[in-house]
Amino acid sequence: MIQLYIPLNFLGVLYREIKQSLTDLDKMFALLDKEREVADAPDAQPLRLDAAPDIRFEDVRFGYERDRDILHGVSFTIPAGKTVAVVGPSGAGKSTLARLLYRFYDVGRPGAGPHEPTGRITIAGQDIRHVTQDSLRRAIGIVPQDTVLFNDTIEYNILYGRPDAGHDEAVRAARAAHIHDFIARLPKGYQTLVGERGLKLSGGEKQRVAIARTLLKDPPILIFDEATSALDSANERAIQAELRQVARDKTTLVIAHRLSTVVDAHEIIVLEQGRVVERGTHAELLAAGGRYAQMWALQQNTAEQEDGHQVA
Ligand code: ADP
Ligand code: MG
Repeated sequence: MIQLYIPLNFLGVLYREIKQSLTDLDKMFALLDKEREVADAPDAQPLRLDAAPDIRFEDVRFGYERDRDILHGVSFTIPAGKTVAVVGPSGAGKSTLARLLYRFYDVGRPGAGPHEPTGRITIAGQDIRHVTQDSLRRAIGIVPQDTVLFNDTIEYNILYGRPDAGHDEAVRAARAAHIHDFIARLPKGYQTLVGERGLKLSGGEKQRVAIARTLLKDPPILIFDEATSALDSANERAIQAELRQVARDKTTLVIAHRLSTVVDAHEIIVLEQGRVVERGTHAELLAAGGRYAQMWALQQNTAEQEDGHQVA
């Protein structure tokens, strides 16, 4: 599965810029040779947004293929300006939730009958199937699990979050994402070509470029899908602090591999095989002594071991 970035412009842009972003979107789909999976409804309206809207997953059902359901009726609400975290084993369907919110796919499954329930996803009360994709994607900043960079300069890749921003803003975002020093050391600095035909960046470097892009975009809705999984723990801690800062009054969906990053979440959802098996705050879930508590205990042990190695 290729995870990718779609143009994420800023709110309140002019028509010209909207058109530009659609051009970029098409360019990107061409680049990845991927068909657009979803199309705007004929009567699609732009998403009407509050500063930070609430997001609801209502009995969401989904499958990529005909006979294999991935999500079996998932419901949760992210209240306006709050953070909800999703945790669970690999393959549970966590990234699928992120892809559905960004509308890479629509809820339901291929070949479903007309009366089969699909559930729905709403943002500020609007079913995301009824809004234009462009307005949806401008409202959301996503740091995916695997970032695909454009064959262009590193600066372009950062400014892609907000094309009207300038060099200084790109640098500020890069500093916050702890990638500035790395860029500054390159012979061509911000003008270094990256992507398939340019300098190959490591997973962690790409992830930091994606974070810089999202910090620069500063959208009302954030999705972090294991956004710091490729970073070493020192870098991860530093960037987590930045991410917490930007997420402060935004509506945020965090998919986490390290549970230390979800402790403060308004609600934690434990997903297994496409079903919510537990939900609650960190304290509630620890007290419940179930799956989450097990995962937490396991990670505490691992963390101690890792710290031990660092000292040694
Ligand atoms: P998680 O993020 O929790 O590890 P995912 O949401 O990525 O899990 O995937 C959930 C399930 O969906 C997995 O079994 C995975 O193999 C399957 N899957 C993911 N992407 C696709 C796809 N594009 N086509 C078919 N199956 C997919
Ligand atoms: Mg995933």
